[in-house]
Amino acid sequence: MTPRGWAVLTLGGLVLALLVASIVLVPWSRPPAPRADQVAALGELPVDQVAHAREFRSALRPGAYGALVVGLLVALLLGLTPLGARLVELAGRPFGGHWTARAVLGGLAVVLLADLLTLPFAAWRQSVLTRYGLSTHGWSGWAVDLLKSYAVSAVIGAIALLGFYTVTRLAPRWWWAFGAAGAAGLVVLLSFVLPVLVEPVFNRFTPMEQGPLRTELMAMAARDGVPVRDVLVADASRRTKAVNAYVSGLGPTRRVVVYDTLLREATPAEVTSVVAHELGHAKDRDVWTGTLTGALGAALAVVALYLLGSWGPLLRLAGVDSVAEPRAFPLLIALVTVAGLVAAPAQALISRRVEARADAHALALTGDPATFEAMQRRLAGVNLADPDPPRWEYLWSASHPSTVERMAAARAYAREAGR
Ligand SMILES: [Zn+2]
Repeated sequence: MTPRGWAVLTLGGLVLALLVASIVLVPWSRPPAPRADQVAALGELPVDQVAHAREFRSALRPGAYGALVVGLLVALLLGLTPLGARLVELAGRPFGGHWTARAVLGGLAVVLLADLLTLPFAAWRQSVLTRYGLSTHGWSGWAVDLLKSYAVSAVIGAIALLGFYTVTRLAPRWWWAFGAAGAAGLVVLLSFVLPVLVEPVFNRFTPMEQGPLRTELMAMAARDGVPVRDVLVADASRRTKAVNAYVSGLGPTRRVVVYDTLLREATPAEVTSVVAHELGHAKDRDVWTGTLTGALGAALAVVALYLLGSWGPLLRLAGVDSVAEPRAFPLLIALVTVAGLVAAPAQALISRRVEARADAHALALTGDPATFEAMQRRLAGVNLADPDPPRWEYLWSASHPSTVERMAAARAYAREAGR
């Protein structure tokens, strides 16, 4: 069989593996929160709070969708015309057009150009966040964060680009197989190291101070059978008023993180409720699920790019001879951008299912639906979340169930538990 035949076979296997993983690992069977409860919950939220949150969300929309449209157009313009290939050549010219310069500098130039063209929309977002009092770090802090994130992306991007184009040179017929394995490996590696190498670039993490709350949280984790070494507090207040918590990392790098803003804004019982949700993610190995599906998706993308990349009309549009050369990188970015947009609703749907399971875990672990509901109300209030967002936006991008869905889930739990 030819390499191409093997690639088709591998693609089929990866699609199947991704389907099986999402069927087995994602909690599909959970019934949705009753809409009647959602409507009742919405009716009990302060009318002016809901109106204010909706005004804020509308103010963000032009920037968010502007960035999306411009990002897509730039990717298509660079990838489906010879412009992108020329940009890659230009970036490599000071180094005599050496392939490593084209691969790394050319690749980074393409990404940077797209970033710079969508920068006005990022600034728009920051101005809205400031106007509504959510952002606390001012324009200088915003700029520093932006430069830091460019630097982090440049380091990770340079490693990926150099690795990828080394493989395409060494194995011109089989690069897709090594590339797929490498991409999957990179996803797993990043899951491990992001909490210890990247997150500290943006925030300081300190162990939660000793006291009744920490004792209560550690006891709850022990009761839940989830070994947690520590609860870390992130100094999120340096840039935002928003409250949040999350789990990240795998194995030795796994951690539960709460924002310092959460400790400041919420009652200890509410913090317990949030951490119980995060313990649900840890117990159900949601970071592993995300990493596994991410790794399968990355491998699938590489094989699909190889197969699509042998399609003549596409190569002619981009003005390149082969998809495996650095000059074709803009074409890869264009295809990945389109695929990302197509996959977004499916990713959001899976995320919402996983989040709803963590909510159910929090309710069962604390047995305290009243506090859970109070916490959801507070989250929505402080973060200016639309408690019942427009349906299309929810389906397109919501990573979590809506506030009214989460409140309704608490009410349904309370009824079932007879509390
Ligand atoms: Zn969660």
